[in-house]
Amino acid sequence: MKAKKGAEARLIEHIEKTFRFPGDRRLLLGPGDDCAVLRHGAGRDLVITTDEIVEGTHYLARFATPEDLARKLTRINLSDLASMGDVRPVSCVVGSGLKKDTPPDFTRRFMRELKKEALRFGISVAGGNLAGARENHFYMTVWGETGGTQPVTRYGAKPGDLLFNVGPLGLAAAGLEILMGGKAALCKKFPGLVKAFWRPEPQLAAGALLGRKELASAMLDNSDGLARSAAILAELSRCRVIVSPGEGACARELRAYCAAAGRPWRYYAIGGGEDYGLVFTAPARKLGDIKRLLPAALVVGRVEKGRGAAIENFNGKVKSFEHF
Ligand SMILES: [Mg+2]
Repeated sequence: MKAKKGAEARLIEHIEKTFRFPGDRRLLLGPGDDCAVLRHGAGRDLVITTDEIVEGTHYLARFATPEDLARKLTRINLSDLASMGDVRPVSCVVGSGLKKDTPPDFTRRFMRELKKEALRFGISVAGGNLAGARENHFYMTVWGETGGTQPVTRYGAKPGDLLFNVGPLGLAAAGLEILMGGKAALCKKFPGLVKAFWRPEPQLAAGALLGRKELASAMLDNSDGLARSAAILAELSRCRVIVSPGEGACARELRAYCAAAGRPWRYYAIGGGEDYGLVFTAPARKLGDIKRLLPAALVVGRVEKGRGAAIENFNGKVKSFEHF
């Protein structure tokens, strides 16, 4: 597959160029990565990100509870922190735009779950905002502190590196398909897939380990599918990334769903978004260390000289999500 630059990628490129201020030495990493990094004390850096969930774009009201939304909002934001390596989450601010007819109980339930999530991941909720809106949406800005090591960026992949994934592959996309289909029996039959969509697990421990041990040369969280992640790494690291996941990358529940849905599992694993695992590259000589320290990480491809992303051993059509 050739990585095509869609309207969303072009807009992001324009944003990055617009906000490239010269001279601010406190801004160690600006727009273009999963997080921004700011120097905020001797040897300590602040890592910041923001993300949102919009009704109609990311979910439909008929299959979302306020608890689902609070959990997912927290986790997709923390996932960005995880992708920067050795980062300890600290705090967040949260906001939402709500339709006029939103029952007060909805907001209370959302907040109750948000508090639970904040406690679970060891962050505080430092503030927020509420406004009326035409569509419900929920947003968060979260920040963390680096440990002693440099953050892992999207820019360091090198020819000869291997491509790894840690976390689910394709489960969330299959889960969303089930939710969209609206069949309760399917939701019941494949609870792990639905859970993968609503409750992604931010890979904070894996990210911190990869950063602390300086194992990963480049990393991002897998929000838009393996093909898209590979294309981003290829572009920013100026190399060619080959995506080639083996049979071991297919979870049992996804395999069972695919048998029922009549689609190859790689369709979901390569093209499906919202898994929020970590996609990273590392020199081949570090394979032994990675296998020992992070057995859940799987080799799903490799890095070569050249440009762009390519998919091996799969002829199905892969569609990545585009916002615009
Ligand atoms: Mg990200």
